Amino acid sequence: MKAITYYEKIATHKQKAYMQMQCHCVLCNTSLELKFENISQEEIKEVASCPQCEIRTRAKTHIIH
Ligand SMILES: [Zn+2]
Repeated sequence: MKAITYYEKIATHKQKAYMQMQCHCVLCNTSLELKFENISQEEIKEVASCPQCEIRTRAKTHIIH
């Protein structure tokens, strides 16, 4: 869990403005749940899902510089 928290902080800091624009479900306007999975030491996968619709709205890979 320590590793996940570490990557969450980095991603949130770098993409804060972007996420604030697209942090709600397009179907029901519920706040999306964002999760970050570390693929490697330099890559994280961002997954946004709606707890109401149970859909994944996006899954992207980001390089940590
Ligand atoms: Zn929804």
